[in-house]
Parts: sequence; C-alpha cells; structure tokens
Amino acid sequence: MNKIALLKLAWDMMSSNDKWAIFYRRIFGCNKDPPNKIQFWKDNWLGEPLVDCLGISDDLLSALSTLCSDFILDSRWMIPTFISNLFPEVSRRIASTGISSNMDKLIWLNSENGILDLRNAYIKVDSNPPGPSWCKLIWANFIPPSQYFLVWRLFHNKVPSDDNLQQKGCSLASMCSLCRSSIESFEHLFLSCPFATYHWC
Ligand SMILES: [Zn+2]
Repeated sequence: MNKIALLKLAWDMMSSNDKWAIFYRRIFGCNKDPPNKIQFWKDNWLGEPLVDCLGISDDLLSALSTLCSDFILDSRWMIPTFISNLFPEVSRRIASTGISSNMDKLIWLNSENGILDLRNAYIKVDSNPPGPSWCKLIWANFIPPSQYFLVWRLFHNKVPSDDNLQQKGCSLASMCSLCRSSIESFEHLFLSCPFATYHWC
C-alpha cells in the first residue's frame, strides 16, 4: 500500500499546480513552474522518448533540453532535417501529432481522463511485482552507471541496434561490424555472433 500512496504522491508533486506541490518542487530543485512543459527529446509525448526512437547516445542527453514548443511555429511542426531524412517514419509520426493551443500537461497512460488516481496507481504497482534477484546485481554501486544503464536498455530492448532503428523507420543497410556475415540485431550481437559465442564459451 505504501508504494501506491508514494506513486500517487510523486505524480501529484510533478503535475499539480497546488501551492504545496509548487513548494516541494522548489525545495527539491525542480524549478519548472508550471511543471508541464514537455521536453522534445526526452519526454514520452510520441509513444516513447525521441532519444530512444532515434538511438541517441546517453552522452548527449544533458545537452538536449529543448521543449516541444521550440519546434512549433505558427501551429506547425518544424521537424529537424536529420529526422526527416534519416527517420521518415518518426518524422511522419511527429507531423501527425496534433498541436493544441492549450497548456501542456502530463498524462497518465491507460487512464481514461489522463489523471493518476489511487485505482490506477494500484493497477500500476500490482502489474510490476518485485524484480528478480539479478536486479540487485545490475544496480550495484560497484558497476559504473554507463554499464548498468546499458544492461537496463538490453532488458527493455532499447539498444539502438540496426534492427531496432529499422523498426523505427530508419532506412539503413545493416551488417554486423564484427563478423560481417549477418545483420546487426540485439540477438546476433550478444548471442549468436561468432565473436559473442567465443566470449561466452
Ligand atoms: Zn556478428
């Protein structure tokens, strides 16, 4: 029950414009008031964050702070050229996303009104049971953040391998740069590539 209440509290702190929420956001270093400006690259306004869609390196995340509103002019999307050229499917999805004159706001997915209530919080917590013991190993202090984040991305199929980029609509030719005998996919790179099997065996 504590997890449900904490999830609801965290949501309210992020999304509410009540005085107590504004106060706590300032106390904890979040000065975005109103808090609901949507970040173009990092927020999940397109179904998944653009940094994941485009396979953008984690090293660049801190430099990507522009908002969705920065890419809108006269109620039209100003899509960066490299996205249009290299990721036509992503570009199409952006172009088909409606633009509203209303203020941005956070939406809780799988909720009828976009608001997280206790019932939705219970469903979310209940559908995410405690992870297996390997989680403690992956998130251990002695492992560098860049490496345990890579493992996290592997488990969630978020690695920007060629096959993943192709599924996002990126038109590119693919070949494993190690063995040059197969397309570059997650399964090939880490499991079936001769170089991988040599490493594991
Ligand atoms: Zn290979």
